[in-house]
Amino acid sequence: METIKTDIAVIGGGVIGLAASIRLRADGRDVVLIEPNEPGSGASYGNAGTVADYAILPVGTPAVLRNLASLLFNADSPLSIRKAALPTLLPWLMRFAYESLPHRYKDNASRIADLLSEAATEWLDMAAGIGASALLSGKGCLYLYQTPQSFRSASADIALRRQYGISQELLNPDEVLRLEPHLPPVEGGGLFFPNAINFTDPGIVMAEMAAAAKRAGVQFVRDAVKMIARERYGVKMVASHNIIHARAAVIAAGAYSGNLARQLGERVALDTERGYHLEFDMDTMPVERPVCPTHHGFYFCPMRGRLRVAGTVELGGINAPPNPRRLEVLLANARRVFPKLGEPSRTWMGFRPSMPDSVPVIRPSKGGKDVIFAFGHGHIGLTLAPRTARMVSSMLAA
Ligand SMILES: Cc1cc2nc3c(=O)[nH]c(=O)nc-3n(C[C@H](O)[C@H](O)[C@H](O)COP(=O)(O)OP(=O)(O)OC[C@H]3O[C@@H](n4cnc5c(N)ncnc54)[C@H](O)[C@@H]3O)c2cc1C
Repeated sequence: METIKTDIAVIGGGVIGLAASIRLRADGRDVVLIEPNEPGSGASYGNAGTVADYAILPVGTPAVLRNLASLLFNADSPLSIRKAALPTLLPWLMRFAYESLPHRYKDNASRIADLLSEAATEWLDMAAGIGASALLSGKGCLYLYQTPQSFRSASADIALRRQYGISQELLNPDEVLRLEPHLPPVEGGGLFFPNAINFTDPGIVMAEMAAAAKRAGVQFVRDAVKMIARERYGVKMVASHNIIHARAAVIAAGAYSGNLARQLGERVALDTERGYHLEFDMDTMPVERPVCPTHHGFYFCPMRGRLRVAGTVELGGINAPPNPRRLEVLLANARRVFPKLGEPSRTWMGFRPSMPDSVPVIRPSKGGKDVIFAFGHGHIGLTLAPRTARMVSSMLAA
């Protein structure tokens, strides 16, 4: 066992831990980042790459609640559950159902909107700081609606976004095709977020973040924290090969953060929404920008040298292996839009760290601000990484 002493220990090297480390180092703090795998190789690697500052709606809404049973138990729906995981997931699901009620969902949307309000500019700054600006694209993002009725049922969501000042343009079917000529006709039309930006390769962004953190002097420790406890002058973490003493710690271990919080005496309702992606190597993309057929719950994402089809939700816990059926459904639905898609070159599953209200946990632990919680970012962790880092930095400075 090696003993390491530091000012700040960041547990977890996903996009949240990496962003927090970079920011804390820029504040002049000594930072040790503890991560057992390649930094950025968890959920942060395989996402859709959208800086989704328009995504103010929580996953749980009154409409989702109305259809929850049919959604969950239809293996082909965009939001499904592994039946074996149901008993374990029941408390999370009950809280999710409560958070989907009309008064809760509006409150959650308002908290998410507040967090997202500066996301794009904060990412433009961070990308410039780490030398990753060339990986950003600014062609907006497009939602598709299968039928006029599905477009009409999105009207409450559209009104809510308008209330928060999100730029969105309602497109008729012809306007959708003018924007994305390779799409098949989409009867219900689309919704265009003209100011949205996205990354063309989240994996490379993670590598650039890790490199920037190293250059700035963040010390990387390849290990997994097993135990965390307060001690007289700070926080002690026992990992597989190291004991780390820090004046303060940041828990940013994504979907794995709940166990660490519990060791400090706090129960958080964190679970995971498993998401999948398929990649098709190609030089000419069928879409110019991230395009989301809303009824399928995934994005077509043009990335460097490949089209990534990423999204959907499977409630199934962090231990079960990927579900091949979910990948089949993703492929079948992708081919409903682009029938000529061949076999995928790669497939992937990752664990979104998810709270039942879709609001991330970014706050000091109840036991004191020597431990900061920074997890539970669900569908918007890439988007919120710079904002989270700024919040963590000010909590530790105060
Ligand atoms: C299919 C899909 C599409 C998505 N699309 C988008 C999108 O377009 N835009 C967006 O903003 N977000 C998107 N997301 C969500 C986003 O990817 C996540 O919210 C974000 O990556 C979470 O980051 P994280 O750092 O909290 O978690 P992770 O990236 O999972 O990182 C957590 C890290 O902690 C480490 N760790 C775990 N346990 C320990 C331990 N005991 N000790 C030390 N380290 C530990 C893990 O190894 C891991 O590297 C998507 C997610 C998925 C799955």
